Formats: sequence, structure tokens, C-alpha cells
Amino acid sequence: MFPQSIQNLINQLSKLPDIGPRAATRLVFHLINQNQNELENLSQSLKELKSKIKLCPDCFSLTNDNLCSICSDKKRDKNTICLIETVLNIPLIEKTRQYTGLYHILGGLISPGNGTGPEDLKIKELINRVKNNSIKEIIFALSPTTEGDTTTLYIEKILQELKTQPSPKAPAGKVKTSRLGRGLSVGSDLEYIDENTLSNAFRSRR
Ligand SMILES: [Zn+2]
Repeated sequence: MFPQSIQNLINQLSKLPDIGPRAATRLVFHLINQNQNELENLSQSLKELKSKIKLCPDCFSLTNDNLCSICSDKKRDKNTICLIETVLNIPLIEKTRQYTGLYHILGGLISPGNGTGPEDLKIKELINRVKNNSIKEIIFALSPTTEGDTTTLYIEKILQELKTQPSPKAPAGKVKTSRLGRGLSVGSDLEYIDENTLSNAFRSRR
């Protein structure tokens, strides 16, 4: 129906999540009206998306540099780690302005159903961070789902055991764990929780 170059782009965009053929067609016709410079910028950004992005070696967020912008920010509280499932949770938590510590991205939740075990997540790396830094609090900001609870219990148990084998920087009993507090409805994904609810949950963590 359309020239091949247009149809190709429509087909490509249709593969993206939440974009069907109609939305893809609208996007392509929007792009046709952009000037060449805008399109070059878009194309350049797409090219660099994979090639320039690395994982932060400390928190496993995405970065263009050696450390991510949060881990390298001198103003952040280096004694607190907020444990999250995916990098997508960071902007949501940052928007609440309730949190100034560091993050640790697990890369998923323990889920026997989809075959995700503890070894598939950045749990070992979290334990090493606790052992090698003066971490005072770990906030579990995982979704209030069965998978989220299973993951929280699993990691809390390891942290508990750590207290009986203290390292110089993490002496016994020093790491406190807390969970997000009231207002989170059970079963909901953290990603769909509104800013106010998340903000309250941070303030009322226990
Ligand atoms: Zn980082």
C-alpha cells in the first residue's frame, strides 16, 4: 500500500511493545514531516543505544561512564541501598524525593514459575557490596507480589546469616533491613504504583 521504505519502518515499529500497526503508521507519517536533522539525531541515538551503554559495576544500573550518575554522586548517602527489581524503578523512586541513597538492581525476582532462581539475580553482588562497604540499611523496594516476597525472604535470610560471620566493614548486627510501608496493595507491580503512594510507603518503611 505504501512505498517499501515506509512499509519497512512501519513493520519495524509495529514490533515494539504497546505499538500496533496503526500507531506505527501514525508515527512514520509524523517522522516524514520532520526535518532531516531531527531524523539524523534519532538515527544516531538508536545507533548508540547499545554500543555506548554499559552496566554500572556497583549497582547494575545503565551508564555511559564507568560508574552510573547515582553511584558517582558525592551527595548521595553511601550507607543505604535500595533494592529494586529493574532500572525502570529508579525514576519512579527518584520522583518521590524521599530517597537519597544508592540502588542495587537485582535484574528480576525469584520465580520458579518462569525458571528464575537466585543465581540468575545480582544477589551475590549485593552480599559482596554489604561485606565490602559500610552499608547500614537495605530497603527492600520490591513489588508486593508472591515473587517479591519470596525474593525478600531469601535475601533477608542471607543477610541474617552474614551477621554471624562479620567482616571488618560490616560488623555483626550493623545492617538493618526494612520494607516499604503502608499503602501498597498486595499483588500490584511497583511500576504501576502512583507517586504519592510510593512516597508514603518510603516514609513509613519498617
Ligand atoms: Zn551505579
